[in-house]
Order: sequence, then C-alpha cells, then structure tokens
Amino acid sequence: MSVPFFDLQAVNARYAEALKAAAARVIDSGWYILGGELEAFEREFADYCGVRHALGVGNGLDALALILRAYIGLGVLREGDEVIVPANTFIATFLAVSQSGLVPVPVEPDPVTFNLDPARVELAIGPRTRAVIAVHLYGQLAEMPVLAALARRRGLLLIEDAAQAHGAALDGCKAGAFGDAAAFSFFPTKNLGALGDGGAVTTSDDALARRVAALRNYGSETKYHHLFQGVNSRLDELQAALLRVKLAHLDEEILLRRRIARRYREGIVHPAIAPPQVTREDGHVWHLFVLRCRRRDALQRHLQAWGIHTQVHYPVPAHRQPAYSEWHRLHLPVTERLHAEVLSLPLNPALDEAAVERVIAACRAFKGNA
Ligand SMILES: *Cc1c(COP(=O)(O)O)cnc(C)c1O
Repeated sequence: MSVPFFDLQAVNARYAEALKAAAARVIDSGWYILGGELEAFEREFADYCGVRHALGVGNGLDALALILRAYIGLGVLREGDEVIVPANTFIATFLAVSQSGLVPVPVEPDPVTFNLDPARVELAIGPRTRAVIAVHLYGQLAEMPVLAALARRRGLLLIEDAAQAHGAALDGCKAGAFGDAAAFSFFPTKNLGALGDGGAVTTSDDALARRVAALRNYGSETKYHHLFQGVNSRLDELQAALLRVKLAHLDEEILLRRRIARRYREGIVHPAIAPPQVTREDGHVWHLFVLRCRRRDALQRHLQAWGIHTQVHYPVPAHRQPAYSEWHRLHLPVTERLHAEVLSLPLNPALDEAAVERVIAACRAFKGNA
C-alpha cells in the first residue's frame, strides 16, 4: 500500500460536479476578469474571515506585497523600513518584504509551536522597525493577542501571512481578522485551494482596501485613469467561481484534517519522534502535520520504504538560500535545527482511515533511538 503525500485529484474529485458547473457558468457568461464571481467570492470570504474587505489577487506573494506597497503609498511605511518576519517561513514572506524596498529582519521561532516568539520579536525591534509579519505556520495561529498588544504598544503594523491558515480561529476570531491586514494564498495545495494560482488580502481598513483594489488593477479605479503605478494581479472569474464552491466546504474539511491530526498524535508514540503540539484545537487547521525527529532523514527513508511519501517544510531556511547570500553569516540556531529535524506526514481531507493507520504503524516501526 502506497500513501501519496498529497492527492489533489482526490481532493477536488469530491466536488467535481459543482466545480464543473461553476466553470461552465463562467465560460458561458463571457466575462472573465473583475466581474460578479469575484465580487461574490470577496463578499463570502470577507464574511467567512469576519472582516470588512477581501480583495482577490493573483497569488499569495502578491497579496503580501500589495499590502506592503499600499502602506508605502499611504505613507504608513517608507522604503528602507524594517519588517520583522519569522526566520522559518516559506520564502514568499521574505520576498514580499525585500521586493517592496523594505528590509526583512528574521526572528527565531518558538521551537514548540514553530511560530514567532513574541519575546524575541520585542528584542528585535529597532528604531527603523515599522511592522511585524506573523505567519500562521503549518496552519496554527501565531500568538496573535500577545503580538497585537505588542504591536499596539510599540506603534507597529501587524500583518498576517495566513497562506496556510484559512479558518484557524481563537475565541471566534479567525485568521485574517487579527492584524491590520492579512494575506491568503489559494495555491491548489493550500487548505482553500483554487485550480490555479490565486490569493486575497483581507482587512477592515477602508483606505487600505481601496488602495489594494486599485494597485492590483494597474493603479486604476476608473478604466484608463491611473492614480498609482500599480500591477496586474487579479483573481480571475474562473478561480473565484471555483473557490466559492470550495469555500462552502472549508469548515467540514478542517474537521476532517483535525480528526486525522488527532489520530496521528494519539497513535504515533515513539521515543525518537516528537509529534506537533497544539495549544488550542480550533487554533490549528493542519495545513501540514509536521513532526520533529533528530534522525529525520533516516525516518524519511524508513517511511519511504513503507510506501509513505513525506516532505520537508522547509529544507533550507531563507538566510541560507543563494537568493539571500548577504545573510549567509547569520547564525539562527533554533531555525537551523528545526530545518534539520522537521518532517511532514501526509494529511489531507481525502486521506482514508487505512492510510492513516498505515502511516501510524510505519512510524511506530521506526528503529531509531531518541
Ligand atoms: C504559499 C505561501 C505563500 C505564497 O503563496 P503563493 O500563492 O504561492 O504565492 C506565502 N506565505 C506562505 C507561508 C505560504 O505557505
């Protein structure tokens, strides 16, 4: 029996009829960019997150970059300002900052939650620090109440990178509604995945929303009149229509993910394997199930021999990437150790019980010591 890491075909097959009907509706409409499907999706996604505005954009990286560029345009951020980011995140968080003429400042995570450690954030604040980007890594909310209080006290913007955390909540407040603004990705493998690229900005700040809406569309509010030097980054009608179908099932998919994660955490009992810890059930939507193991590579090979496909998120931290050679001398021991020890197990709504039990049995059979 082979267990794939992720089976997109199986995930989307659950909604094949509704997706095909939505696609046909768009094809037949003759209207493909900035129309009724996008408006409806933006309304539905804003309501889902509990914010005033959602703006569909081309992808998650653009969502982050457009938030930053909009703040620069509004005079809230200035080029050269420092933005605190977690040292252990997908590269997009860094790229959005550096591409906007701002300076990313990597901060070490809490090794248990994998998320930003507020105490270390406080220590990293300098005279040029203007913003913090909190990433809800692997689907678990960062410590938002603490970070929000810190940001308020120190006069910083708080931006969420919620690309992995659609629907994660704390006391009813959802990812995307904690910060001044948030970025989402609808890359096909994300918890709310399109059938192509897509992203969104959420915010309850009217001025920011208006600026992002213009920037994503050539800096224009009226056709052929350009207020700003914008970009072309729009969520198209087809993806918006498909996302409306999948948004209606997001909450039930989150419950399926939680059930698998609970089973893994109960079942994977091994001295050499540290399963992920959760502070609160509703704060984690299990985009990824990431365990730690000192003999990670051996464990990965062992699981592969059992036919179980795993991945590493992420094998190389940003400060060790060729793209950021200026940081190669930085030493971030927590981040470096995590990158050497993390392993992601298969977890998605289409994973059946037999596969889950097979993964658990394989982990328990690992002959490694702590
Ligand atoms: C996927 C992801 C992004 C970027 O989203 P794209 O749609 O691929 O551009 C940004 N941040 C994090 C944490 C992500 O996981």
